[in-house]
Amino acid sequence: MKKYSIGIDIGGTNTQTALVSESGEVLEKKVIKTKDYPNYTDYIDTLCEIINQYKESQKDIIGIGIGAPNANYYSGIIENAPNLIWKEDLYIAKDLQEKVNLKTKVTNDANAATVGEKIYGGAKDLSDFIMITLGTGLGSGFYVNNKLVYGFTGSAGELGHIIIEPNGRTCGCKKKGCLEAYCSASGLVKTYQEISYSVEANLTAADIYSKAKAGNISAAIAFDKFTDKLAVGVSNAILITSPEAVFIFGGLANAEEFVIEPLKEKVNSLLLANFRNKTKILKSSLPESDAAILGAASLVFEL
Ligand SMILES: [Zn+2]
Repeated sequence: MKKYSIGIDIGGTNTQTALVSESGEVLEKKVIKTKDYPNYTDYIDTLCEIINQYKESQKDIIGIGIGAPNANYYSGIIENAPNLIWKEDLYIAKDLQEKVNLKTKVTNDANAATVGEKIYGGAKDLSDFIMITLGTGLGSGFYVNNKLVYGFTGSAGELGHIIIEPNGRTCGCKKKGCLEAYCSASGLVKTYQEISYSVEANLTAADIYSKAKAGNISAAIAFDKFTDKLAVGVSNAILITSPEAVFIFGGLANAEEFVIEPLKEKVNSLLLANFRNKTKILKSSLPESDAAILGAASLVFEL
């Protein structure tokens, strides 16, 4: 009998839910607006209604997996997430589990994507790999010896907040010089603006990619600086965990000629000789539209 999990991806704007089969079919996807629920209890009640509908349509649901910002795998708590409207600690795993009687696991969104890559993506047969999600920020997850690394606190794998430039740009976390401040969609836009003195409003990373493809020199330099920094972060990480592959996920992974290809070369040049040409750098094979849901749901199927 096919087993199912309920995947819940909690974001600042939307919360997506779906029934996900063990083999990765995403069914009955639903979206609610997270911001429509200033009261957390109302939010939980709505999630429970949705979960109960799933339980009616499918009898073989073995659990719930949640991906959310600042979610802690050990405690099941979402801790003070800056992008969510509720400011208190949210005991979301316990709250749902008690009401719908299904085992519930939570983790942060990047770790969920990492487990998703392992269960449904290109890392199925790998025991050691790194996942890097390039979006508004830079998230990451580390699989070592066939286990996702959670560390002592449950928050391990924050490659985005290693210091890449002492006293550099101020990061969203308030520290200075984090990798994320340079190697993220917003970091790329900022670098482009610094180089080109551009005052164009609402520039996005996709715009910079279009410009680079059209031969704009400032855009090409912005990508070059982007991969210089990312290569330092990635090569340092490779030296620590010796992964078989590094997967790059997110919109910027589609800019292969400006991100993935140069990254391969630059990372190699920064590694110790015995590490060179061993770790593959690949685009994630998770489908972008369902990656967050697959990642969340996969927590239930993870060994
Ligand atoms: Zn930071």
